[in-house]
Amino acid sequence: SAEVIYGKQLAEELRQEMKKEVSELHKHNIHPKLVVVIIGQDPASMSYVKGKQRASEKIGLDSELMELPESTSEKELLDLIDQLNQDQTVHGILVQLPLPNHIEDQKVIEAINPEKDVDGFHPINVGRLLTGQETFYPCTPYGIMVMLKRANITIEGKHVVIIGRSNLVGKPVGQLLLNENATVTHCHSRTKNLRDHTKQADILIVAAGKAGLISGDDIEEGTIVIDVGVNRVDGKLTGDVDFESASEKASHITPVPKGVGPMTITMLLHNTIKAAKRIHNHQ
Ligand code: NAD
Repeated sequence: SAEVIYGKQLAEELRQEMKKEVSELHKHNIHPKLVVVIIGQDPASMSYVKGKQRASEKIGLDSELMELPESTSEKELLDLIDQLNQDQTVHGILVQLPLPNHIEDQKVIEAINPEKDVDGFHPINVGRLLTGQETFYPCTPYGIMVMLKRANITIEGKHVVIIGRSNLVGKPVGQLLLNENATVTHCHSRTKNLRDHTKQADILIVAAGKAGLISGDDIEEGTIVIDVGVNRVDGKLTGDVDFESASEKASHITPVPKGVGPMTITMLLHNTIKAAKRIHNHQ
């Protein structure tokens, strides 16, 4: 049966390393700082940002959570971002999405200075990723790459099948893999005969947000399965993959929870440290 790749464990190791790095930076008078902005009180979003803030503080980052009321106007938010862009003590800016309907997500994303865009959503950074340049990579896709590498999985030449084509997960993870010489297939909600594709995968990345979409019947022996999905079923957190049946055939598999999730925040911390080093021209 499959080797289980625990992102949680890897995330803890990486955060220990980052904690040391941050205290080294402090000696050079560099204090990496992340500002997280949230509008309104959506419970899921609140719990995400609290998690991000807690993780930041644990490794010694300066972090600030700005909680703004639902009634905040687009102009007010853009003005705030402008201030944060100019603030020399701030290195990473993250605006928690989705925003209320009266604010255009894309306008806000584009207002963030690309050098402080630790989510990697600004079109400049998306373009840099597309053209294979060094940039801030979106945290979930980046976390998946680090997990594959730390599990000693070769990417070059592998056929990677990705279920999902969102700007948040599917597309950027495909691009990162392509940059590392994988052969990439994207499946999505209009794909016909999904199983014909998933059976071809050396590595299967499932990011659809549909509990139980993939089971052991959908893969061949020896497939590497990365489950990105986060679904709540009867109050329990579960992925997109039926772990029981898939782990009987997979060579490696990530669980939900304790899989990809913890790596996402870890890469946000990584990006914040990277932003601070870049802004201060520190090697
Ligand atoms: P999304 O809803 O924006 O995109 C889902 C994608 O899956 C779409 O491209 C859609 O075409 C495809 N899809 C949906 N149903 C399908 C089906 N039946 N067959 C084939 N394709 C199908 O979601 P997202 O933001 O990309 O997130 C995907 C999942 O990953 C969600 O469950 C989300 O909660 C989770 N997620 C987890 C983390 C993490 O840190 N663990 C981070 C981001 C997203």
